[in-house]
Amino acid sequence: MTKHTSHEIDIVKSETSKIDAVDFENLTFGRIFTDHMFICDFENNAWQTPKITPYQPMTMDPSARVFHYGQAVFEGMKAYKDADGKIWMFRPEDNYNRINKSAARLAMPEFPREYFFEGITKLLQMDSEWIKTGKGNSLYLRPFIIATDPAISASPSENYRFMIICSPAKAYYTSKIKVLVAEKFSRSANGGVGFAKAAGNYAAQFYPTSLAQKRGFQQIIWTDADTHEKLEEAGTMNVFFRINDTLITAPISDRILDGVTRRSIIQLAQDNGIEVDVRPITVTELKKAAKAGSLKEIFGAGTAAVISAISAFEHLEELYELPNIENSYADTLKDKMLNIQHNLAEDKHGWRYGV
Ligand SMILES: *Cc1c(COP(=O)(O)O)cnc(C)c1O
Repeated sequence: MTKHTSHEIDIVKSETSKIDAVDFENLTFGRIFTDHMFICDFENNAWQTPKITPYQPMTMDPSARVFHYGQAVFEGMKAYKDADGKIWMFRPEDNYNRINKSAARLAMPEFPREYFFEGITKLLQMDSEWIKTGKGNSLYLRPFIIATDPAISASPSENYRFMIICSPAKAYYTSKIKVLVAEKFSRSANGGVGFAKAAGNYAAQFYPTSLAQKRGFQQIIWTDADTHEKLEEAGTMNVFFRINDTLITAPISDRILDGVTRRSIIQLAQDNGIEVDVRPITVTELKKAAKAGSLKEIFGAGTAAVISAISAFEHLEELYELPNIENSYADTLKDKMLNIQHNLAEDKHGWRYGV
């Protein structure tokens, strides 16, 4: 192994690459990882010198707090390669700010900006072969922080590990999905951690989602915990509703995650003359619009799928099917997003970040 230091990062390069064994045409999301990973430990009240090492399992004390109390936060972001081979990211500053916002809520220390951006840049340069050109192809980056203290006392850890792992991805969730509107279960509550990318938020969704899946629905539209009336998110995505020609999405709150895709879709819609209404929207209003024929689209928005169109929803055992429309906002806005992300369109808001 060749070991050298680049700026502030200790680097151990992998001697071989796993890339030749990967079928890039048939990728299952999040199963395959690149040759390297980024690690930075928080010890003695300070983030230590970061490292990039070959991607590999790691050992950890069984008492590490992450295993017992779920003190863990994460991010999801993507890197793209344009036709000239240049690597781009999309609004990574927003992910950097958000992981620290999530960390603060979980009583974890803030991660330094230089380490975050230098780590990503170096890692992407080392694993650049893993980023394929072509619209829809990307490298998914998963930064995360876990509590590593070997102690099961129920208090915040004093030691942490920040890591970034990378997984090649194709566009997924391509077919339309059917969703169930939550009547009993909740994803988040006022004063809780719904706005944070806390690992446990996902664990808590698995059971209700599996019940929905047994009944033929791919996802759940989460409603507010108090009344189950307000429509808030779709699975692990923010959610948009098109009634007549207006796009409606709920305002950000304690319970709703401030998605980078959501924010970008709102801006792009406005740029293209689509009226956007950021306001609470209820199940009652949605069902009324569906019955009147004014509900034209529902779609989820998030980094992994960009936009995921919804074909039908069920509430109180009644199924509401949406029309199949041409030139949907979902298709139009997804295409505009992908064009900006892949350096195929003008980036008038300065969202692209050249690596
Ligand atoms: C990550 C996430 C989103 C989407 O955020 P993006 O920044 O657009 O990827 C939406 N809702 C929840 C609950 C999330 O965890």
